[in-house]
Amino acid sequence: MTAIDPRTVTLLTGVMSGLMAVVLYTLKRNYPSSVRGLGRWSFTLAVLFAGGVLVSGRGLLPDLLTISLSNLLLWLGLYLGYTGTQQFFGVPSRTWYWLALILALALVQTWFAVGAPDYRVRLVLTTTMTALLTGAHAWLVFRQGAFTFARVLTACVLATMAIIQLLRLGTISSIPPGAEFLSSDPIQLVYVATFAFVMLLFSVSVVLLATEQLHTELQYQAGHDSLTHALTRRRMNEACVKELERCHRHGRHMAVLLIDLDHFKMVNDTWGHQAGDQVLLRFASEVNGLLRQPDLLGRQGGEEFLVLLPETTLDEALCVAERIRESCARQGQTPNYTASIGVTTNHKDTDTVDSLLARADAAMYRAKAHGRNRVESA
Ligand code: GH3
Ligand code: MG
Ligand code: MG
Repeated sequence: MTAIDPRTVTLLTGVMSGLMAVVLYTLKRNYPSSVRGLGRWSFTLAVLFAGGVLVSGRGLLPDLLTISLSNLLLWLGLYLGYTGTQQFFGVPSRTWYWLALILALALVQTWFAVGAPDYRVRLVLTTTMTALLTGAHAWLVFRQGAFTFARVLTACVLATMAIIQLLRLGTISSIPPGAEFLSSDPIQLVYVATFAFVMLLFSVSVVLLATEQLHTELQYQAGHDSLTHALTRRRMNEACVKELERCHRHGRHMAVLLIDLDHFKMVNDTWGHQAGDQVLLRFASEVNGLLRQPDLLGRQGGEEFLVLLPETTLDEALCVAERIRESCARQGQTPNYTASIGVTTNHKDTDTVDSLLARADAAMYRAKAHGRNRVESA
Protein backbone atom coordinates (compact mmCIF):
# COMPACT_ATOMS: atom_id res chain seq x y z
CA MET A 1 0.00 0.00 0.00
CA THR A 2 1.31 3.49 -0.88
CA ALA A 3 1.56 5.90 2.04
CA ILE A 4 0.63 8.90 -0.13
CA ASP A 5 -1.92 8.70 -2.90
CA PRO A 6 -1.33 11.43 -5.57
CA ARG A 7 -5.05 11.63 -6.36
CA THR A 8 -5.92 12.37 -2.73
CA VAL A 9 -3.08 14.90 -2.37
CA THR A 10 -4.18 16.68 -5.57
CA LEU A 11 -7.81 16.74 -4.45
CA LEU A 12 -6.81 18.07 -1.03
CA THR A 13 -4.63 20.77 -2.66
CA GLY A 14 -7.64 21.83 -4.71
CA VAL A 15 -10.00 21.86 -1.72
CA MET A 16 -7.47 23.78 0.37
CA SER A 17 -7.13 26.34 -2.45
CA GLY A 18 -10.93 26.68 -2.46
CA LEU A 19 -10.98 27.34 1.28
CA MET A 20 -8.19 29.88 1.00
CA ALA A 21 -10.12 31.56 -1.84
CA VAL A 22 -12.98 32.08 0.63
CA VAL A 23 -10.56 33.45 3.25
CA LEU A 24 -9.09 35.92 0.76
CA TYR A 25 -12.53 36.94 -0.48
CA THR A 26 -13.57 37.65 3.11
CA LEU A 27 -10.45 39.78 3.55
CA LYS A 28 -11.29 41.64 0.34
CA ARG A 29 -14.74 42.45 1.74
CA ASN A 30 -13.37 43.62 5.07
CA TYR A 31 -10.09 45.35 4.22
CA PRO A 32 -10.05 48.93 2.88
CA SER A 33 -10.05 49.20 -0.91
CA SER A 34 -6.56 50.73 -0.74
CA VAL A 35 -5.26 47.18 -0.10
CA ARG A 36 -5.46 45.98 -3.69
CA GLY A 37 -5.01 42.55 -5.27
CA LEU A 38 -7.09 40.54 -2.77
CA GLY A 39 -9.92 39.95 -5.27
CA ARG A 40 -7.53 38.59 -7.90
CA TRP A 41 -5.69 36.41 -5.38
CA SER A 42 -9.01 35.04 -4.20
CA PHE A 43 -10.03 34.33 -7.79
CA THR A 44 -6.61 32.70 -8.38
CA LEU A 45 -7.26 30.19 -5.61
CA ALA A 46 -10.81 29.56 -6.83
CA VAL A 47 -9.43 28.75 -10.31
CA LEU A 48 -6.74 26.50 -8.79
CA PHE A 49 -9.48 24.80 -6.78
CA ALA A 50 -11.36 23.99 -10.00
CA GLY A 51 -8.11 22.84 -11.66
CA GLY A 52 -7.18 20.64 -8.70
CA VAL A 53 -10.59 18.98 -8.58
CA LEU A 54 -10.43 18.27 -12.32
CA VAL A 55 -6.92 16.74 -12.14
CA SER A 56 -7.98 14.45 -9.33
CA GLY A 57 -10.73 13.13 -11.63
CA ARG A 58 -8.10 11.75 -14.05
CA GLY A 59 -9.32 8.42 -15.46
CA LEU A 60 -12.86 9.12 -14.27
CA LEU A 61 -13.59 12.15 -16.43
CA PRO A 62 -12.60 12.79 -20.11
CA ASP A 63 -8.91 13.64 -20.67
CA LEU A 64 -9.90 16.89 -22.31
CA LEU A 65 -11.15 18.03 -18.90
CA THR A 66 -8.64 16.39 -16.59
CA ILE A 67 -5.57 17.17 -18.69
CA SER A 68 -6.20 20.08 -21.07
CA LEU A 69 -8.70 22.15 -19.10
CA SER A 70 -7.05 21.49 -15.74
CA ASN A 71 -3.66 22.64 -17.09
CA LEU A 72 -5.22 25.70 -18.63
CA LEU A 73 -6.82 26.50 -15.26
CA LEU A 74 -3.49 25.99 -13.48
CA TRP A 75 -1.71 28.48 -15.76
CA LEU A 76 -4.58 30.96 -15.82
CA GLY A 77 -4.79 30.74 -12.03
CA LEU A 78 -1.07 31.34 -11.60
CA TYR A 79 -1.23 34.22 -14.08
CA LEU A 80 -4.19 35.77 -12.22
CA GLY A 81 -2.14 35.52 -9.02
CA TYR A 82 0.70 37.35 -10.80
CA THR A 83 -1.66 40.16 -11.91
CA GLY A 84 -3.08 40.29 -8.35
CA THR A 85 0.43 40.95 -7.06
CA GLN A 86 0.94 43.58 -9.79
CA GLN A 87 -2.27 45.25 -8.58
CA PHE A 88 -1.10 45.01 -4.98
CA PHE A 89 2.16 46.83 -5.80
CA GLY A 90 0.53 49.20 -8.33
CA VAL A 91 2.64 47.80 -11.20
CA PRO A 92 0.99 48.12 -14.63
CA SER A 93 0.02 44.81 -16.17
CA ARG A 94 0.87 43.79 -19.77
CA THR A 95 -1.64 41.04 -20.28
CA TRP A 96 -1.69 39.99 -23.88
CA TYR A 97 1.62 38.21 -24.31
CA TRP A 98 1.23 36.04 -21.20
CA LEU A 99 -2.33 35.13 -22.22
CA ALA A 100 -1.21 34.41 -25.81
CA LEU A 101 1.58 32.15 -24.52
CA ILE A 102 -0.78 30.35 -22.12
CA LEU A 103 -3.42 29.74 -24.81
CA ALA A 104 -0.83 28.58 -27.38
CA LEU A 105 0.73 26.13 -24.93
CA ALA A 106 -2.73 24.92 -23.85
CA LEU A 107 -3.48 24.05 -27.50
CA VAL A 108 -0.18 22.15 -27.87
CA GLN A 109 -0.93 20.45 -24.54
CA THR A 110 -4.35 19.39 -25.84
CA TRP A 111 -2.74 17.81 -28.89
CA PHE A 112 -0.42 15.76 -26.66
CA ALA A 113 -3.37 14.81 -24.45
CA VAL A 114 -5.91 13.63 -26.99
CA GLY A 115 -4.27 13.77 -30.46
CA ALA A 116 -0.96 12.01 -29.83
CA PRO A 117 -0.95 11.32 -26.08
CA ASP A 118 2.51 11.76 -24.59
CA TYR A 119 2.88 12.33 -20.85
CA ARG A 120 6.54 13.37 -21.04
CA VAL A 121 5.89 16.16 -23.55
CA ARG A 122 2.93 17.33 -21.45
CA LEU A 123 5.10 17.36 -18.35
CA VAL A 124 7.76 19.41 -20.16
CA LEU A 125 5.07 21.94 -21.13
CA THR A 126 3.49 22.04 -17.65
CA THR A 127 6.73 22.39 -15.72
CA THR A 128 8.22 24.97 -18.12
CA MET A 129 5.15 27.23 -18.17
CA THR A 130 4.59 26.92 -14.41
CA ALA A 131 8.28 27.71 -13.76
CA LEU A 132 8.02 30.77 -16.05
CA LEU A 133 4.88 32.09 -14.32
CA THR A 134 6.07 31.51 -10.76
CA GLY A 135 9.62 32.69 -11.57
CA ALA A 136 8.29 35.96 -13.05
CA HIS A 137 6.00 36.34 -10.04
CA ALA A 138 8.90 35.81 -7.58
CA TRP A 139 11.00 38.36 -9.48
CA LEU A 140 8.12 40.86 -9.38
CA VAL A 141 7.96 40.65 -5.57
CA PHE A 142 11.75 40.68 -5.20
CA ARG A 143 12.27 43.80 -7.31
CA GLN A 144 9.86 45.85 -5.16
CA GLY A 145 12.60 45.88 -2.48
CA ALA A 146 11.60 46.83 1.11
CA PHE A 147 12.24 43.28 2.29
CA THR A 148 9.59 42.83 4.95
CA PHE A 149 8.82 39.34 6.29
CA ALA A 150 5.74 38.91 4.06
CA ARG A 151 7.60 40.06 0.94
CA VAL A 152 10.56 37.77 1.57
CA LEU A 153 8.23 34.83 2.32
CA THR A 154 6.18 35.42 -0.85
CA ALA A 155 9.27 35.75 -3.07
CA CYS A 156 10.86 32.63 -1.51
CA VAL A 157 7.66 30.55 -1.82
CA LEU A 158 7.27 31.48 -5.49
CA ALA A 159 10.96 30.93 -6.25
CA THR A 160 10.73 27.52 -4.55
CA MET A 161 7.75 26.68 -6.74
CA ALA A 162 9.74 27.63 -9.86
CA ILE A 163 12.74 25.56 -8.69
CA ILE A 164 10.53 22.52 -7.99
CA GLN A 165 9.22 22.74 -11.57
CA LEU A 166 12.76 22.94 -12.98
CA LEU A 167 13.89 19.98 -10.84
CA ARG A 168 10.91 17.99 -12.09
CA LEU A 169 11.87 18.94 -15.64
CA GLY A 170 15.35 17.56 -14.94
CA THR A 171 13.93 14.19 -13.87
CA ILE A 172 11.77 13.66 -16.96
CA SER A 173 14.22 11.23 -18.58
CA SER A 174 13.80 8.90 -15.56
CA ILE A 175 10.02 8.61 -16.02
CA PRO A 176 9.12 4.98 -16.71
CA PRO A 177 7.16 4.28 -19.92
CA GLY A 178 3.41 4.28 -19.35
CA ALA A 179 3.65 6.57 -16.32
CA GLU A 180 1.16 9.40 -15.96
CA PHE A 181 0.29 12.20 -13.57
CA LEU A 182 -1.29 10.01 -10.91
CA SER A 183 1.49 7.36 -10.97
CA SER A 184 2.83 6.58 -7.54
CA ASP A 185 6.54 6.70 -8.33
CA PRO A 186 8.49 8.47 -5.55
CA ILE A 187 9.59 11.49 -7.62
CA GLN A 188 6.01 12.16 -8.74
CA LEU A 189 4.80 11.84 -5.15
CA VAL A 190 7.38 14.33 -3.91
CA TYR A 191 6.43 16.67 -6.78
CA VAL A 192 2.70 16.53 -6.04
CA ALA A 193 3.18 16.83 -2.27
CA THR A 194 5.58 19.79 -2.44
CA PHE A 195 3.22 21.55 -4.85
CA ALA A 196 0.45 21.23 -2.23
CA PHE A 197 2.72 22.55 0.48
CA VAL A 198 3.92 25.50 -1.60
CA MET A 199 0.35 26.43 -2.61
CA LEU A 200 -0.63 26.58 1.06
CA LEU A 201 2.39 28.77 1.82
CA PHE A 202 1.54 31.03 -1.13
CA SER A 203 -1.98 31.58 0.23
CA VAL A 204 -0.59 32.38 3.67
CA SER A 205 2.05 34.72 2.26
CA VAL A 206 -0.45 36.85 0.31
CA VAL A 207 -2.65 37.11 3.41
CA LEU A 208 0.47 38.34 5.26
CA LEU A 209 1.28 40.81 2.46
CA ALA A 210 -2.20 42.33 2.69
CA THR A 211 -2.14 42.40 6.50
CA GLU A 212 1.28 44.02 6.53
CA GLN A 213 0.03 46.77 4.23
CA LEU A 214 -3.08 47.29 6.33
CA HIS A 215 -0.88 47.62 9.42
CA THR A 216 1.34 50.19 7.66
CA GLU A 217 -1.74 52.19 6.58
CA LEU A 218 -3.27 52.13 10.07
CA GLN A 219 0.04 53.21 11.60
CA TYR A 220 0.18 56.10 9.15
CA GLN A 221 -3.43 57.12 9.81
CA ALA A 222 -2.85 57.02 13.57
CA GLY A 223 0.03 59.45 13.24
CA HIS A 224 -1.10 61.76 10.43
CA ASP A 225 -3.93 64.20 9.91
CA SER A 226 -6.20 62.93 7.13
CA LEU A 227 -6.60 66.31 5.41
CA THR A 228 -3.12 67.83 5.44
CA HIS A 229 -1.00 64.69 6.16
CA ALA A 230 0.81 66.69 8.85
CA LEU A 231 1.56 64.77 12.08
CA THR A 232 -1.23 64.52 14.64
CA ARG A 233 -1.09 66.53 17.83
CA ARG A 234 -0.23 63.38 19.85
CA ARG A 235 2.67 62.35 17.56
CA MET A 236 3.97 65.89 17.56
CA ASN A 237 3.83 66.00 21.35
CA GLU A 238 5.74 62.70 21.57
CA ALA A 239 8.38 64.03 19.15
CA CYS A 240 8.74 67.26 21.18
CA VAL A 241 9.11 65.32 24.46
CA LYS A 242 11.85 63.13 22.91
CA GLU A 243 13.69 66.08 21.39
CA LEU A 244 13.51 68.08 24.61
CA GLU A 245 14.99 65.14 26.56
CA ARG A 246 17.86 64.95 24.06
CA CYS A 247 18.43 68.69 24.43
CA HIS A 248 18.54 68.39 28.24
CA ARG A 249 20.98 65.46 28.01
CA HIS A 250 23.35 66.90 25.43
CA GLY A 251 22.90 70.65 26.02
CA ARG A 252 21.47 71.21 22.55
CA HIS A 253 18.95 73.66 21.15
CA MET A 254 15.56 73.02 19.66
CA ALA A 255 12.96 75.47 18.40
CA VAL A 256 9.21 75.36 17.92
CA LEU A 257 7.06 77.54 15.69
CA LEU A 258 3.37 77.88 16.45
CA ILE A 259 1.61 78.98 13.29
CA ASP A 260 -1.99 80.20 13.11
CA LEU A 261 -3.56 81.17 9.80
CA ASP A 262 -5.02 84.67 9.91
CA HIS A 263 -8.73 85.42 9.57
CA PHE A 264 -9.35 81.87 8.50
CA LYS A 265 -13.00 82.10 9.39
CA MET A 266 -13.24 84.83 6.75
CA VAL A 267 -11.51 82.58 4.16
CA ASN A 268 -14.18 79.96 4.82
CA ASP A 269 -17.01 82.50 4.82
CA THR A 270 -15.83 84.12 1.58
CA TRP A 271 -14.70 81.11 -0.44
CA GLY A 272 -16.44 78.20 1.17
CA HIS A 273 -15.29 75.43 3.50
CA GLN A 274 -13.82 73.31 0.68
CA ALA A 275 -11.64 76.18 -0.51
CA GLY A 276 -10.58 76.57 3.15
CA ASP A 277 -9.59 72.90 3.20
CA GLN A 278 -7.53 73.42 0.05
CA VAL A 279 -5.72 76.32 1.73
CA LEU A 280 -4.83 74.07 4.69
CA LEU A 281 -3.53 71.42 2.28
CA ARG A 282 -1.55 74.00 0.30
CA PHE A 283 -0.12 75.47 3.49
CA ALA A 284 1.09 72.06 4.74
CA SER A 285 2.70 71.19 1.44
CA GLU A 286 4.41 74.61 1.14
CA VAL A 287 5.77 74.39 4.68
CA ASN A 288 6.99 70.82 4.16
CA GLY A 289 8.84 72.08 1.09
CA LEU A 290 10.64 74.68 3.23
CA LEU A 291 11.71 72.32 6.04
CA ARG A 292 14.82 70.13 6.33
CA GLN A 293 14.76 66.36 6.75
CA PRO A 294 14.67 66.17 10.62
CA ASP A 295 12.13 69.02 10.98
CA LEU A 296 8.52 68.04 11.66
CA LEU A 297 5.19 69.67 10.87
CA GLY A 298 2.10 68.83 12.94
CA ARG A 299 -1.48 70.02 13.00
CA GLN A 300 -2.46 71.18 16.46
CA GLY A 301 -6.10 71.53 15.43
CA GLY A 302 -8.18 73.68 13.07
CA GLU A 303 -5.93 76.20 11.31
CA GLU A 304 -3.15 75.97 13.87
CA PHE A 305 0.11 74.14 13.15
CA LEU A 306 3.30 73.37 15.04
CA VAL A 307 6.79 73.05 13.54
CA LEU A 308 9.57 71.32 15.48
CA LEU A 309 13.11 72.29 14.47
CA PRO A 310 15.71 70.06 16.18
CA GLU A 311 19.20 71.46 16.78
CA THR A 312 18.14 74.98 15.85
CA THR A 313 18.97 78.30 17.58
CA LEU A 314 16.51 81.18 17.94
CA ASP A 315 18.13 83.15 15.07
CA GLU A 316 17.93 80.17 12.71
CA ALA A 317 14.33 79.48 13.77
CA LEU A 318 13.37 83.12 13.13
CA CYS A 319 14.79 82.79 9.57
CA VAL A 320 12.71 79.63 8.97
CA ALA A 321 9.59 81.33 10.40
CA GLU A 322 10.12 84.39 8.19
CA ARG A 323 10.47 82.14 5.10
CA ILE A 324 7.20 80.40 6.01
CA ARG A 325 5.41 83.72 6.63
CA GLU A 326 6.65 85.08 3.27
CA SER A 327 5.64 81.95 1.41
CA CYS A 328 2.09 82.16 2.86
CA ALA A 329 1.73 85.88 2.12
CA ARG A 330 2.97 85.56 -1.49
CA GLN A 331 -0.04 86.50 -3.62
CA GLY A 332 -0.10 83.52 -5.93
CA GLN A 333 -3.27 81.49 -5.86
CA THR A 334 -6.68 82.42 -4.53
CA PRO A 335 -7.81 82.37 -1.80
CA ASN A 336 -4.88 84.35 -0.44
CA TYR A 337 -3.97 83.87 3.17
CA THR A 338 -1.39 84.97 5.73
CA ALA A 339 -0.06 83.46 8.93
CA SER A 340 1.03 84.67 12.35
CA ILE A 341 3.95 82.78 13.87
CA GLY A 342 5.22 82.50 17.43
CA VAL A 343 8.80 81.24 17.83
CA THR A 344 10.62 79.98 20.91
CA THR A 345 13.56 77.77 21.88
CA ASN A 346 14.45 75.73 24.97
CA HIS A 347 16.37 78.43 26.72
CA LYS A 348 15.60 77.23 30.29
CA ASP A 349 16.78 73.98 31.90
CA THR A 350 13.37 73.56 33.49
CA ASP A 351 11.53 73.83 30.19
CA THR A 352 8.85 71.25 29.48
CA VAL A 353 6.91 70.79 26.25
CA ASP A 354 3.97 72.60 27.89
CA SER A 355 6.07 75.59 28.91
CA LEU A 356 7.64 75.76 25.42
CA LEU A 357 4.22 75.67 23.77
CA ALA A 358 2.85 78.25 26.19
CA ARG A 359 5.69 80.66 25.23
CA ALA A 360 5.19 79.99 21.52
CA ASP A 361 1.46 80.57 21.98
CA ALA A 362 2.05 83.89 23.77
CA ALA A 363 4.42 84.97 20.97
CA MET A 364 1.86 83.97 18.34
CA TYR A 365 -0.87 85.99 20.06
CA ARG A 366 1.52 88.96 20.15
CA ALA A 367 1.93 88.59 16.39
CA LYS A 368 -1.87 88.65 16.08
CA ALA A 369 -2.14 91.69 18.32
CA HIS A 370 0.53 93.54 16.32
CA GLY A 371 -1.43 93.25 13.11
CA ARG A 372 -1.07 89.58 11.99
CA ASN A 373 1.13 88.30 9.09
CA ARG A 374 4.06 88.61 11.51
CA VAL A 375 6.71 86.60 13.32
CA GLU A 376 7.28 87.17 17.06
CA SER A 377 9.57 85.36 19.46
CA ALA A 378 9.60 84.67 23.18
P1 GH3 B 1 -7.41 84.79 13.66
O1 GH3 B 1 -6.68 85.59 12.65
O2 GH3 B 1 -7.63 85.55 14.92
O3 GH3 B 1 -6.77 83.48 13.93
O4 GH3 B 1 -8.85 84.54 13.06
P2 GH3 B 1 -9.45 83.18 12.56
O5 GH3 B 1 -10.68 83.48 11.79
O6 GH3 B 1 -8.39 82.44 11.82
O7 GH3 B 1 -9.71 82.41 13.89
P3 GH3 B 1 -11.01 81.72 14.46
O8 GH3 B 1 -10.53 80.89 15.62
O9 GH3 B 1 -12.08 82.73 14.73
O10 GH3 B 1 -11.52 80.80 13.31
C1 GH3 B 1 -10.84 79.67 12.90
C2 GH3 B 1 -11.59 79.12 11.74
O11 GH3 B 1 -10.92 77.97 11.19
C3 GH3 B 1 -12.97 78.68 12.10
C4 GH3 B 1 -13.10 77.26 11.57
O12 GH3 B 1 -14.28 77.06 10.84
C5 GH3 B 1 -11.91 77.15 10.64
N1 GH3 B 1 -11.46 75.77 10.53
C6 GH3 B 1 -10.99 75.00 11.52
N2 GH3 B 1 -10.65 73.77 11.03
C7 GH3 B 1 -10.95 73.79 9.70
C8 GH3 B 1 -10.87 72.81 8.65
O13 GH3 B 1 -10.43 71.67 8.82
N3 GH3 B 1 -11.25 73.19 7.42
C9 GH3 B 1 -11.73 74.47 7.17
N4 GH3 B 1 -12.07 74.77 5.95
N5 GH3 B 1 -11.84 75.37 8.14
C10 GH3 B 1 -11.46 75.05 9.39
MG1 MG C 1 -6.62 81.78 12.81
MG1 MG D 1 -6.73 79.47 15.57
